[in-house]
Amino acid sequence: MNELFLKKVNNPAHYRFEKVNCYSCGSDDYSLFLIGQEDLTGKDGEFQYVKCNQCQLVYQNPRISVDQIKEFYDGEYIAHRKKKNWGVLTPLYEWTMNKHDREKDKLVSKHVRFDSETEILDVGCAVGTFLLHMNKKYNCKISGVDFKEGLEYPGFDKIEFYEGLFYEQEMSSKRYDLITMWHFLEHDYDPIKTLEKAKEVLKDDGKLIIEVPRLDSFTYRLFGKKWPGVQAPQHTILFDKKKFVEMMERNGFKVVKYRAWGAFPPYFYIFAGAYFKLIGKGLNLNKIIFPYFLGQLLLTPVLIFQKVLNLSMQTIVLEKAK
Ligand SMILES: [Zn+2]
Repeated sequence: MNELFLKKVNNPAHYRFEKVNCYSCGSDDYSLFLIGQEDLTGKDGEFQYVKCNQCQLVYQNPRISVDQIKEFYDGEYIAHRKKKNWGVLTPLYEWTMNKHDREKDKLVSKHVRFDSETEILDVGCAVGTFLLHMNKKYNCKISGVDFKEGLEYPGFDKIEFYEGLFYEQEMSSKRYDLITMWHFLEHDYDPIKTLEKAKEVLKDDGKLIIEVPRLDSFTYRLFGKKWPGVQAPQHTILFDKKKFVEMMERNGFKVVKYRAWGAFPPYFYIFAGAYFKLIGKGLNLNKIIFPYFLGQLLLTPVLIFQKVLNLSMQTIVLEKAK
């Protein structure tokens, strides 16, 4: 029966898919959860997300093969965006991007004390602005890992950069005081191996801080399969709070703090979700940047309360289980 609904989706002939068992429990017993589209840049395709019948994890199955996923991480992908001229809105855009790093700083500073000896590793570091911010502010040591090639960003050479898959890197064990994964784990093709590696390279008293979109959030209820957190086919897993916490606890971590918000602006999900649902696929930032900021201004009274509204994100602070 599972085989049948794998065939119903329409995709360009050159896409290759692979079946995958549940990342959490290994079962291959599942039910259809939703069919997602590549709404962010508007590429063709339909991508199936299923819910595991054994443990209720929601994940992409079949998933697009790992050597083809790279074509979905093109220049429009916001996390990899380089410095750009937005004309009159450039200062506002820069302020927004810098604010994202300041929010990450605020979040991690509650749990880690930074000085020139502190070692930070950012997994999925993209152009590295968070690491550079931390280095500039606290003079701490910064390492990053990502599989995106050709990253050029001012100051990037200050980062001890590892290219490729995190769990395949040669790194000394128990080195890092802080490991961060900002919107990385929901893209991962092998999250269990990633968590194992994190445990290995984290100091015994170090912290692992992970932010992912939250499936059981207000914006998912509002937008359903057009929820920006689906982000097909890049997102391999859609975590609700229960499954997110459970995966951490089952893989050797203890939860220090759970938060129903993150550094990523929930407003982006509100704007993009409304756009995908009402207008269509393909978010061209050049065209929407003005309405984007206007909408943000209008929603300011609501966004003040984002930390208690469970709008879109979740962040977890972890330490090694004893
Ligand atoms: Zn499962």
